[in-house]
Amino acid sequence: MAGDIGWNDEKIGRLKKLWSEGLTTGEIGKRLGVSKNAVVGKAHRLGLKGRPSPIKRQDVKAPPPKKAETRIFTLVDLSSQTCRWPIGDPKHEDFRFCGKPVIAGKPYCGEHCATAYVGSGKSAPRNNNTPTTEEPASST
Ligand SMILES: [Zn+2]
Repeated sequence: MAGDIGWNDEKIGRLKKLWSEGLTTGEIGKRLGVSKNAVVGKAHRLGLKGRPSPIKRQDVKAPPPKKAETRIFTLVDLSSQTCRWPIGDPKHEDFRFCGKPVIAGKPYCGEHCATAYVGSGKSAPRNNNTPTTEEPASST
């Protein structure tokens, strides 16, 4: 055994102390007058574990879980397929648009179609985009 160099209680005690202080094995070896390998081997045999490592591992932080954020529709997000019924006060930050799927041919979802066309006294212009097949009466 190369590293077997007369460990006595005093040396072992110092080893334990230095070990617990977190010194490198090389540094402990220097102080005890033994080789680094002897320190490692002895520490291993003594079961010296859980010594604070001088090199801190970089904690790989997992990205924080994303909050389930409610989607806010802005004009940019609106398409012909999304209800553009304004919700809230345009002066406020939380102003948004409904964004629900629209009824075909209508700018709003079913709920807001009802609100729009019934609530305003039926005077709202009908948005009839449904293609009507008007064939010119050209019967010769
Ligand atoms: Zn809507």
